[in-house]
Amino acid sequence: MAQTFDPAAATAAYLAQLPPEAHARATAYTQGGHWLLLWGTLVALLVAYLIIRSGLLSRLRRKVEGRRNRPILASFLVGAVYLLADSLLSLPWAAYSQWWRQKQYGLTSQAFLGWLGEGAISLAISAVIGGLFFTALYALIRKAPRTWWLWSGGLTAAFIAASMLLGPLYIEPIFNKYTPAPAGPVRDEVVAMAGQVGVPSDKIFVYDGSRQSNAYTANVSGLFGSARVAMSDTMFKKGADIAEVRGVVGHEMGHYSRLHAPLIAAIIAALAVLAFFLVDRLFAPAARLLGADEVRGLADPAGLPVLSAILAVVALLGAPVTNSLIRITEADADRYSLVHFDEPDGLSKALVKTIEYRAATPGRLEEIIFYDHPAVGRRIQRAMEWKAAHPKTAGR
Ligand SMILES: [Zn+2]
Repeated sequence: MAQTFDPAAATAAYLAQLPPEAHARATAYTQGGHWLLLWGTLVALLVAYLIIRSGLLSRLRRKVEGRRNRPILASFLVGAVYLLADSLLSLPWAAYSQWWRQKQYGLTSQAFLGWLGEGAISLAISAVIGGLFFTALYALIRKAPRTWWLWSGGLTAAFIAASMLLGPLYIEPIFNKYTPAPAGPVRDEVVAMAGQVGVPSDKIFVYDGSRQSNAYTANVSGLFGSARVAMSDTMFKKGADIAEVRGVVGHEMGHYSRLHAPLIAAIIAALAVLAFFLVDRLFAPAARLLGADEVRGLADPAGLPVLSAILAVVALLGAPVTNSLIRITEADADRYSLVHFDEPDGLSKALVKTIEYRAATPGRLEEIIFYDHPAVGRRIQRAMEWKAAHPKTAGR
């Protein structure tokens, strides 16, 4: 009977599917992760300091510029070399925080060399893209020394839009194998769902996401009607039933239909203006603090580590804002899934599987500061409240 359905008890029953040890482990992993943010920022500052003190970038800039003034080539090469040096010096920290720790908690089955190989590929890609970004950024600083931080928002937006358009086509296939979803009930269901809410259904893929992570994920990416639905093979390996597929894919279609990605990109661009404004104001004192004597001011690409150090601190302080922003869209996508596909139990079953890498019942403040998804306990609670308010008629 619908009247006797108790959302709180149903939520507790879902959470009790994991034994207390598993919840304790998830809490240890999640709260340890909060501290990693702080240590990661300190590592970034230390690496910036080491690169500045080495004088590597100043020497490179002088060499490239030579007697002729070649600011564009100089900023591209300095930017690319900086990203390479930064990644090499940060490698031990990255290996610990992104691979070893995941392994300890059983959240990845990837071998170290596999992780390292993927890291090398993404480093090569980001050195090129980052080099281009810094080239454009330093051109702005030279052309508009007073207002460059304002234009940087547009630059950031352009780079985010380009990566959203080109990433699924050119970058993601480098790391994972995408194949059209095999015919069968799962594919048929996803096609029907896409038709129901007007998401293009001609491109539905399975990718070998289980190579990197045991996490249970799917995504809908693309812009301007070029959507494609990509589902990790973990969804099939863990034996997802149709209700679960509907709950999860419905959530991802929510992100697409409700334009979350362009919305977040626009807000990130606005926040970038604020961050670059702070860089503009704080560059001189930060350069002194880091001992960047050879850097000739903000317009000198050799000062990139100073700029990055400021951004690292600003990003740490701004994390609660960006986390909350993303968390709000995640709650919205859950709501979309419930409203359009009505699978509170399918969604909850899938959510229980994500507890291992994001503890289910954090305090409210911890959730606001650190969580970029609403806590699973609360997400299931909302799904169960939806279920209580929308009892299904007999037969389903
Ligand atoms: Zn989501």
